[in-house]
Amino acid sequence: MSQENKGIEKFEYKAQMKQLLNIIAHSLYTHPEVFLRELISNASDALNKVRFQKLTDTNLLDKDKELAIKISIDSEKDLFSIEDSGIGMNKSELINNIGTVARSGTMEFLEKLKNDKKSLDDNLIGQFGVGFYSVFMVTDEVVIETRQGSLDSKGLRFKSSGQGSFSIEEIDKKDRGTKISFKLKESAKEFSHSEKITEIIKKYSNFVDFPIFLGEGKINTVNALWQKNSADLNTPEVNEFYKFLSNDFNDPLGFKHINIEGDVNFKALIFIPPTAPLDLLRVENEKSLQLYSNKIFIQADCKELLPDYLRFVKGVVDSEDLPLNISREVTQSSAAMGKIKKVLVREILSLLSQWALSDKDKYETFYNNFGPLLKIGLNSDFASRDKLVELLRFQTSLNPKMSLSSLKDYVSRMRQDQKEIYYICGEDRSSLEKNPNLEYFTKNGIEVLFLTDPVDAFTFPAVGEYDKKAIKSIDKSDIDLKAASGEDKSLDSLSKSLLGVFKEVLKEKVGDVFASKRLTDSAVTLVAAKDAPDAQMEKIMKTMNKDYALSKKIMEINLDHPLITNLSKIYLSDSSSPLLHNCILQVYEGALLIDGNLNTPSEFIKRMNDIMEEATK
Ligand code: ADP
Repeated sequence: MSQENKGIEKFEYKAQMKQLLNIIAHSLYTHPEVFLRELISNASDALNKVRFQKLTDTNLLDKDKELAIKISIDSEKDLFSIEDSGIGMNKSELINNIGTVARSGTMEFLEKLKNDKKSLDDNLIGQFGVGFYSVFMVTDEVVIETRQGSLDSKGLRFKSSGQGSFSIEEIDKKDRGTKISFKLKESAKEFSHSEKITEIIKKYSNFVDFPIFLGEGKINTVNALWQKNSADLNTPEVNEFYKFLSNDFNDPLGFKHINIEGDVNFKALIFIPPTAPLDLLRVENEKSLQLYSNKIFIQADCKELLPDYLRFVKGVVDSEDLPLNISREVTQSSAAMGKIKKVLVREILSLLSQWALSDKDKYETFYNNFGPLLKIGLNSDFASRDKLVELLRFQTSLNPKMSLSSLKDYVSRMRQDQKEIYYICGEDRSSLEKNPNLEYFTKNGIEVLFLTDPVDAFTFPAVGEYDKKAIKSIDKSDIDLKAASGEDKSLDSLSKSLLGVFKEVLKEKVGDVFASKRLTDSAVTLVAAKDAPDAQMEKIMKTMNKDYALSKKIMEINLDHPLITNLSKIYLSDSSSPLLHNCILQVYEGALLIDGNLNTPSEFIKRMNDIMEEATK
């Protein structure tokens, strides 16, 4: 796809890239200045990499050159350039990193924007970061001149107008690093004024770990905030630091400064973001903690420092216990890392517990945003499970809509004779309120937890018990109903025979048929056997695998219901009545339908029509 012309090679952008460029060029931004943040952040990354390389590479070009970022502007000619003495790029890096959409999830993100008919607004730029190509908010053509740090590397010039193609040519470049220059668009002329540039750097890039010069003057306060004493930190400054780290436009929900000395030594500044990312449960897009060793940057997104379920936490961790030339493999196996991780988990959970106790609104904001991720810890972090259980919040059958209770709240409201904690999983409150299995509990004033988050069906059963009380799904058969109701009628022989007919008709479809103690308004319900997954869980399994075989349910029958007493009458007059047979199948499939698990709707409708025909004869 390339074409040589006097040493200039031309390349076509791929379709996805064209789409991204098109969106950037045709959207209106209230903050075009983020282009500067993106360029400085790339320069800073490149400098970090070279600082790291310097530790081992004795042949590095310009080894003693200052690691810095230099910005030049010309307000007469509307020119802008930014230069770093960082790691530089070779030809294939220019093609693959700059000429291609590298970041995973970009396409899904663009699709989503299109489907939601949203434009790439400031907040989304903040969350997503369009990176280098944000320059096309302020210019029509950009030039990159770059050279890597080996003595035999070549200087390269990359040119793009953000249309269909870009070009690369070899140039004579003496020093290591990258210079990006362009002429500002008419609408972006303000970025050639030093006051404006100074203001933007202070706003977005004040904490960059390398000096940023505008002309001769240094603009940023190079400052490792986390090295200060907790008492010397002021919230506005810390909030600015958060915005810098996370590309967020908003203040964090909260932060914690950690200074640990002893068995392991480290300082950390951690943040809980104010909002969840668009795709909370997807792993790839999250950048969580930056790792430093004695103020030297080591890794941008250190996955080993936090368990997966806490990856929403942002911040910086700096430890003097890590070797300077630490590699990824070493980070994974280092004992210090394991200890730091343990302390971080403890500190984060204690910050959250503190909010849960003393700042309920803040905690609920957090929980509504990150609850689904936090709950995953119930299945993976057994050491912290007790703490995590205390952090869970639920809607309940007796509590007003939307207000949340903890398990502790629930237990404090339990009736004296109630021995177990009850819950039901489902899609939303209003469908749970109509679930037949809730009837008994409503009638007897027993509170039931409503679990409406899709991850609940997977995570909550792991809890098992709380405060020595078994936690049970009311969708299941092993519930101690008489303990609360006090009555236990023995069955008359007609009822026994009727249950027998149900078993005969349903055969292998159900595990068993019982007289129900839990129904008041409905004729029948299906519950799961003791060791089987409940209805919501099965529904989720089925969406993941359409061949998933449902477990055999237990059918419970409300012998006092008029429909069932009518069926008894039919049975007495004709025990092999086709209508009786059809009605039994129909109530069974009706119960499947309520659970969202009916696979044969057309048979169901046909049978319904037969029954109606019979009834209207
Ligand atoms: P991101 O920084 O999010 O990866 P960008 O589009 O901003 O996305 O940059 C893409 C890649 O191009 C970077 O990851 C880096 O490898 C390379 N790059 C960009 N700017 C520079 C620079 N100044 N020096 C060296 N490499 C750079």
